[in-house]
Amino acid sequence: TTALVWFRRDLRVHDHPPLRAALDAFERVVPVFVLDPRLLEGRFESEYRAAFLLDCLKDLRKALQERGGNLVVVRGTPEQELPRLAREHGATATYFASDVSPFAMGRDQRVEAALTEAGVEPRRTPGNFIADIGKVKPYSVFSPFWRAWRELPRRDVLGAPRTVTVPSNLAVGTIPAPGKRGDQHGGEAAGRRQMLAFDPATYDDARVNMALQTSRLSAYLHFGCVSARELETRSSGKFARQLAWRDFYAHVLLKHPRNTRHAHQAEMDAIEWEGEDEHFHAWCEGRTGYPAVDAGMRQLAQTGWMHNRARLITASFLVKDLHIDWRRGEQHFMRYLIDGDVAQNNGNWQWISSVGVDPAPLYRRFYNPTLQLQRHDPDGDYVARWAPDSQTITPIVDHAVERKRTMEAYGRARGT
Ligand code: FAD
Repeated sequence: TTALVWFRRDLRVHDHPPLRAALDAFERVVPVFVLDPRLLEGRFESEYRAAFLLDCLKDLRKALQERGGNLVVVRGTPEQELPRLAREHGATATYFASDVSPFAMGRDQRVEAALTEAGVEPRRTPGNFIADIGKVKPYSVFSPFWRAWRELPRRDVLGAPRTVTVPSNLAVGTIPAPGKRGDQHGGEAAGRRQMLAFDPATYDDARVNMALQTSRLSAYLHFGCVSARELETRSSGKFARQLAWRDFYAHVLLKHPRNTRHAHQAEMDAIEWEGEDEHFHAWCEGRTGYPAVDAGMRQLAQTGWMHNRARLITASFLVKDLHIDWRRGEQHFMRYLIDGDVAQNNGNWQWISSVGVDPAPLYRRFYNPTLQLQRHDPDGDYVARWAPDSQTITPIVDHAVERKRTMEAYGRARGT
């Protein structure tokens, strides 16, 4: 008996429920990843993220080979390739973990229909999150979600399988060579090293100082090189709470798929964005004359990562100082972030733009880039590293003036 295991954003062998379930129920499995051109060349195309993904596939193939198995990598669409592979190997079931974006949900429905039509049973398990986030009623404020989420059952953490038996005539396909990389290598081995080396005791300081690095686990979580559930068992305090935000934003997108293109607070789609293209380009290139903004944007372009505090400052600046539509910033971040994730990026952009879930009065979400810099780069190390010349650039706008304009524009959209 044979089953397919369709790998997606769960590129690991440790704590992998679909792989474990398939190995328990079938004699042989066909581990497969479908390189779908829509993933690599779609709306949120990214060189850095593509390179990281290819690293992950190479590493996963190695981990499966070490256990006697292999990873089939095919190009095409999963709705065509999975039924074809199932026929070729006489597989009667396909195991995979669910996902939350509207693109993934639509694709999975088509795949399930195509598999069923081909006489192959689709078996979907909850996705790459700590808890089964579809199980709670829709929340749009974090704290009540968090209370409900903490009560959700947790599954046991699974070890890596000792052996993976695959059919003998497996055509495994080649994995393309990665192009330009950011500053992290993909793969479960690298992700586990990062997880095991992370010391939660350093977290509170790193979170408030942009010159320091936080756990750097986000890209490994995005591609599932590290299991969020396993990481939870090693977490506490503020770090554990941040992981809950990840589940929260995934939950929000699952319940509100419209958010990928629209403000969660529907009336905020009416904001008139008066910003200039020239300012947008200055922001992208880190030439605004505000050192906190310029350092963040250059760190992003050069490495594919930005400290969370810098993400907040740069995003707030684009929307509330330059009056540019948050969706343009969202798209720019997706081009560079190795951890770029539709649910996380969209949720955070909407939050800082005061158009999304977990609302707060507008005056509380105004980030003064000069004060933020004093507080979050106290020794000047962050700016010295990424944008030492920024102090010499004349600021392209005046924060106090733009703050007033934003209050007025948001007021008009709200009709107040
Ligand atoms: P740590 O601080 O070590 O946190 C550990 C983990 O908790 C992270 O890996 C992440 O999974 C989760 N986490 C931390 N902060 C947040 C948060 N604010 N929201 C949701 N989860 C969080 N994160 C992404 O993974 N992908 C994105 O595309 C993304 N886009 C963002 C865009 C903006 C405008 C902002 C303000 C934040 C964004 N974040 C995104 C959230 C956060 O900045 C990153 O997860 C974090 O900086 C990654 O570094 P780390 O792994 O060292 O995080």
